[in-house]
Amino acid sequence: SHSLNFDNDSGRVRVAARLRPRNAEELILDADFNDCVELLPELKRLKLKKNNWSSESYRFDKVFTETASQKRLYEAVVNVLSGYNGTVMAYGQTGTGKTYTVGKLGKDDAAERGIMVRALEDVLASTMPGSDVVEVSYLQLYMESIQDLLAPEKTSIPINEDARTGEVSLPDVSVVKVQDLDHFSELLQIGEANRHAANTKQNTESSRSHAILMVRARRSINQKAGDETVSQEKDVKSNLVGGNGLPRVRKSKLLIVDLVELERIAKSGSVGHLLEEAKFINLSLTSLGKCINALAENSPHIPPRDSKLTRLLRDSFGS
Ligand code: ADP
Ligand code: MG
Repeated sequence: SHSLNFDNDSGRVRVAARLRPRNAEELILDADFNDCVELLPELKRLKLKKNNWSSESYRFDKVFTETASQKRLYEAVVNVLSGYNGTVMAYGQTGTGKTYTVGKLGKDDAAERGIMVRALEDVLASTMPGSDVVEVSYLQLYMESIQDLLAPEKTSIPINEDARTGEVSLPDVSVVKVQDLDHFSELLQIGEANRHAANTKQNTESSRSHAILMVRARRSINQKAGDETVSQEKDVKSNLVGGNGLPRVRKSKLLIVDLVELERIAKSGSVGHLLEEAKFINLSLTSLGKCINALAENSPHIPPRDSKLTRLLRDSFGS
């Protein structure tokens, strides 16, 4: 009887820790190795062993051990989204399981499907084919440059910010209407292939770019009772209130982000191009950290969004 709800307290930032199982190499090499982390799921704590005598412990909203299934991860995440509105970010050092958690296709084994595929499956299941629309864009953010992973010829895509409403849009990014789950899997695969190709050309690894999946759904309100909030956007509101014959529409926007982590690059004593990359990653993560801290502390003052990452995620931080 495990409750998968993070303590429901809407609007808050929630942080879960997931430990991945050891891989074959680690099992062989570290057979006698004492675990450097200990998970205390009931206490929602993760203990980092510093040496034989001392440890540091951190509290999370949720702690997942190495036996936690992809399904459990997804259910915990989806429980705190209001409908399919919200932002999910995976963060951690290279090799810790970010892409597995959010992006795994699970073609051979559906149980391995990650958050992106599961979310799309649910979003698609909650729409009426024909009248409702589910659209996706897939981007990579590399050194403060936005690249379209579904149309790789589009690089350096500008961000548009409405001066009045502050609403962020990317008019040049391709938006693809998703037909079904197979179609979505195909799009993810194309995106992943383009990510590798772009990074090979730039002579970098995909592990140094942030990947962002944007999902937008527009649903007619009367057809399926979802629990997502009605979009506050003016045009939608007027359709809802005005009764001017236009269909009543519910909009939702979901962002799923696979973030790069800095530590390894910073530690490797990088020089030249690597150092440049590290600076950009540092810029975006520092800026993101400031925004998340402000949200976590319920601060009325949102720090300036001084990187493309935080500008893109603007909707997630409120205004
Ligand atoms: P990252 O994206 O953080 O660099 P990956 O998601 O690529 O890391 O994971 C690294 C490796 O570990 C991959 O081979 C992946 O399949 C495996 N892995 C990660 N998390 C799990 C998990 N929970 N269960 C099984 N294998 C995992
Ligand atoms: Mg990855």
